[in-house]
Amino acid sequence: MIYLFPAPAQRCVPLLINLLLALLPASSQAESYREKTQSVFFPPAVTQILRRNLAENPAAQAQAQACLTAAQAWLKQSDAELWSAMFGATIQRSWHVWSNGFCPQCRQSTPMNTWKIDALNLPWKVACPHCQETFPKNDFAAFYKSGIDAHGIFDPARADRSLLVNADHPAATDPLHGFGVDDGTGYSDGSNRWHFIGAYLIYGQWKQVMLTGIRTLAMAYVLTGDPAYAHKAAIMLDRVADLYPTFDFLKQGLSYERVDPVVGAGMVTVWHDACRESMELALAYDMIFPALDHDPALVSFLSGQARQYQL
Ligand SMILES: [Zn+2]
Repeated sequence: MIYLFPAPAQRCVPLLINLLLALLPASSQAESYREKTQSVFFPPAVTQILRRNLAENPAAQAQAQACLTAAQAWLKQSDAELWSAMFGATIQRSWHVWSNGFCPQCRQSTPMNTWKIDALNLPWKVACPHCQETFPKNDFAAFYKSGIDAHGIFDPARADRSLLVNADHPAATDPLHGFGVDDGTGYSDGSNRWHFIGAYLIYGQWKQVMLTGIRTLAMAYVLTGDPAYAHKAAIMLDRVADLYPTFDFLKQGLSYERVDPVVGAGMVTVWHDACRESMELALAYDMIFPALDHDPALVSFLSGQARQYQL
């Protein structure tokens, strides 16, 4: 039975598996968990119709072209870059920079999700919607890289804290030396705390880089049949699969600046988003499935990563 009302995010992946199994013939269900042999939602008969309709419909072609254009942002990246784009659960995530706060630069109100994030073009930064100042002021990418452990996961204890300086005011004697600096736990001015990186992880690195990348690449593959898109999506999905079970928003995330035992359950994100995201990840896997059996370079790369990072 499929339940459509919100369920705890932890149940979403089994739910999707049940959903997918429910669409298989009864004989297949009897042999539950047998090897997957084809895309359930996009089998050859469906993709043939889809691509035939696409060839005849200019409006659909424009939409498809927009998808392919968007996919280039991930397609142009190396396998190693895409694999490394997924972060571990070792930095506290926050649903808001500060749900009822203001910008520490211009002091204007920046409530809820008004901070601007463009992770592909401005990684590890959030921007004030008023004065456009970006935070954190330190080079968080360098700090993050310095803390990567033997398994490819950021370890705060390993990270080089000498990198935690305002890049515009690096001198130790400068009064703005620590202004806007975030080590992953937020920037505090002594009275208030801004969760720049915690919120960036959710809305930037997770939703914009990882989820949008996987969705866009998978759709580009379905539209074209070009295995290059499926290859890149598979790299990202594989790394998400490595780390997804380690995420528990209830223990690792903040909602409205606090750990919320009532509404805080989830995975990378809070449950209402995590449910949909789990579905999208399962669907993307199903979309690219036909290409996976014909991609020895994918197996080679992921096997190499597993050896290098002791997975
Ligand atoms: Zn501002």
